[in-house]
Amino acid sequence: MEKLRLAIVGAGPAGIYAADILLKRDRPFDVSIDLFDQLPAPYGLVRYGVAPDHPRIKGIITALREVLDTGAIRIFGNVDFGRDLTLDDLKQHYHAVIFATGAVRDAPLDIPGIDLPGSYGAADFVSWYDGHPDVPRDWPLEAREIAVIGNGNVALDVARMLAKHPDDLLPTEIPGNVHAGLAASPVTDVHVFGRRGPMQVKFTPLELRELGEVPDVEIVVHDEDFDYDEASRAAISTNKQLVVIDRIFTKWRDASRAGGSTATDTGRGRERRRLHLHFFANPVEVLGDADGRVAGFRYERTEPDGAGGVRGTGELREVPVQAVYRAVGYFGSPLDGVPFDERRGVIPNHEGQVLHDADARDNDLLPGVYATGWIKRGPVGLIGHTKSDAMETVEHLVNDSGSWWTPAHPDEQAVLDLLAGRGVEFTDLDGWHALDEHEIALGADAGRTRVKVVPRDEMVAISNRRTPSLVE
Ligand SMILES: Cc1cc2nc3c(=O)[nH]c(=O)nc-3n(C[C@H](O)[C@H](O)[C@H](O)COP(=O)(O)OP(=O)(O)OC[C@H]3O[C@@H](n4cnc5c(N)ncnc54)[C@H](O)[C@@H]3O)c2cc1C
Repeated sequence: MEKLRLAIVGAGPAGIYAADILLKRDRPFDVSIDLFDQLPAPYGLVRYGVAPDHPRIKGIITALREVLDTGAIRIFGNVDFGRDLTLDDLKQHYHAVIFATGAVRDAPLDIPGIDLPGSYGAADFVSWYDGHPDVPRDWPLEAREIAVIGNGNVALDVARMLAKHPDDLLPTEIPGNVHAGLAASPVTDVHVFGRRGPMQVKFTPLELRELGEVPDVEIVVHDEDFDYDEASRAAISTNKQLVVIDRIFTKWRDASRAGGSTATDTGRGRERRRLHLHFFANPVEVLGDADGRVAGFRYERTEPDGAGGVRGTGELREVPVQAVYRAVGYFGSPLDGVPFDERRGVIPNHEGQVLHDADARDNDLLPGVYATGWIKRGPVGLIGHTKSDAMETVEHLVNDSGSWWTPAHPDEQAVLDLLAGRGVEFTDLDGWHALDEHEIALGADAGRTRVKVVPRDEMVAISNRRTPSLVE
């Protein structure tokens, strides 16, 4: 074997890190990598998931871009695996494939009323405010009171984006229609509900602290939630993150007990919004009004069960809200011809080597097929975790050289011909640079760092320099 022709499907952090690790690793063969993504632009959830007011995290794009700019990887954007390219095609053109397709759907929450008009999945809302090309450009922001169900970082992102005064988002890259939509929102109160206690949350201290720094937004917590049981006290004593989280809550509780405010007051005369954090609140039902629209949220008060979990108390409570957002996790999507674990929403694998099916043993491997990132491990963990994921997967890929595929058309031109023959209008690295420069120029006109281009056809046209008037 002189040269490994490798396909990577998914140009999010997991796919890009896998390419980088393979290129930098000692190995007895050359590599040639083609990176495919269904979107015209790379970076996955870093571009279309990380909140726009997190510029430091968005900045990871700079490091990912450096990997792409080494020139050792070809990127093919706007190519959908399953529609434009199949597993059989890949077997004809490559020795192996790594799937790094992440997770883009909301996990389900099975309670009555969850499908009422006015009840939304967080993933859809995130895609809207981050300018994803495949979601409608209008988002109904008509509610004064809103419930967000979930106690992870995504729930806090959604709550913060809903509560934040829209002008405070202007320095970010949010598209114009998102700013206009948020500016029309009459919201006064956002309620976040977690099933368990404050010491069992899944969010990180940084995200929590940030809530208290949102200008002209008051944080409301309730003393009844902070009567820690033995398990919570034990958790604090062994977990530094929880020490910080406890300190943040204590500061907010002290401020409201002293009759003061947790809010950073800008003195700009804006009406102060409130962000309430409710714990020990198990979702029971989304309530509808006479027209069948969301009118309230019913939950059961829970209590610690003594072992770090909770049990129901039977006490039901209701909060009037006109919209509900569920942020109870993301879920992977199946790929045509590729095994899928319906229960966990991942490609079944052993350390990144794909297995024949979800019930297969660890040695029942599908030759030539690998997985990395959220589609390998499930939708948990930060961007950094996808790097260690990729290392493990690449290690197996390199060691498995004896079981790679034997492609009939391994030359680099063949896949270009295949896509061209199918009329697939793919974008490449130069195209991404063109789109990137265009977005930065749009931002400069408005005194902002970048303004995202949203419609897919416009992204493709600018990338492929088909519409010179748009690029200038
Ligand atoms: C709302 C939200 C906020 C987050 N905020 C942070 C944060 O602040 N800090 C942090 O460290 N982490 C954050 N994360 C986590 C981080 O985004 C993930 O850890 C990381 O993006 C997972 O990487 P991935 O490459 O596995 O998946 P993704 O980033 O989802 O990339 C998958 C790529 O595969 C492509 N793809 C999917 N299906 C196909 C197909 N059929 N054909 C071709 N291409 C396909 C997708 O278009 C996408 O580009 C956040 C996640 C979410 C959901």
